[in-house]
Amino acid sequence: MSASRSKVLVVGMDGLRFDRLLALDAPVLAGLMSTGAYGTSKLPYGEAGTPRTESPGEVVPKTPEPGDGGRVIRSRTDSGPGWSSIATGVWPDKHGVVDNGFESPQFQKFPDFLSRATTARPGLTASAFFSWAALAEHGTFGPAIDHRFVLDGYAVGWAAADKQVAEAAERHLAEEDPDATFVYLGDTDEVAHDLGPHCPEYAAALQAQDAYLGRLLDAVRARPSYPGERWTVLVTTDHGHVDEGGHGGTSDEERTVFVIAGRLGEDLGGRPLAAPRLVDVGPTALAALGVPVDPAWDLDGTPLDL
Ligand SMILES: [Zn+2]
Repeated sequence: MSASRSKVLVVGMDGLRFDRLLALDAPVLAGLMSTGAYGTSKLPYGEAGTPRTESPGEVVPKTPEPGDGGRVIRSRTDSGPGWSSIATGVWPDKHGVVDNGFESPQFQKFPDFLSRATTARPGLTASAFFSWAALAEHGTFGPAIDHRFVLDGYAVGWAAADKQVAEAAERHLAEEDPDATFVYLGDTDEVAHDLGPHCPEYAAALQAQDAYLGRLLDAVRARPSYPGERWTVLVTTDHGHVDEGGHGGTSDEERTVFVIAGRLGEDLGGRPLAAPRLVDVGPTALAALGVPVDPAWDLDGTPLDL
């Protein structure tokens, strides 16, 4: 019997507060947690005393802060820095994205984990699906990725864009043969900016995204080749929100992020992961694909112990 083929699916849900996820009814994520492994950590950055970002793509001017010794990472708790950290496995002082302006990204030096995988393993195929077009425009998830599906959530509307992104990813997982896939959903963030994370609309956005995740997992399980595949699934977010909605600053509500990991068909016991960080997502995906992390890459993250 041949070795199983390793596959990875990473799903990002923008601005999803873990405490709200636990409080709300999200059956697919709850199931992934109960048979997987998960935990939270706090982003090692945030800008105190600055205006909070009011929409996902808005750039708020930064206020410089004096360093206090050690490695000081100067960045807002915004989407650009968060997704860039998830993609690259390094923090904003290395990848260069410190707000949603993407002024000096270092994605040539620190490419995303999908591009790393395709470079390390010629023949491996990677795909990415976004409703936040900036992630493609600025190369956060770069052109080396075999298949990129990009929508503009601002133009299409975030809920509608997420639906199209999910449907495209579902079809791709069912009909194509990607080894590593990233899917971004953004409506949770949009709703939290408008109304905060404590309203019924936020619950509805989360539940829509939870249902999309369920459809992606169903598509994977229905693949004819699924019995010979070993799927690692990771779900994460880029930042939280203050209770009234908005982020960028240093509060626990803005800095708390989560990683949920699962292996389809295996029971990892619903056990806690000790402070999984955004920079660990890429290395974990690479490890699951059998791609060793090269120390020369200078990554900040390490593979999670699943
Ligand atoms: Zn965000």
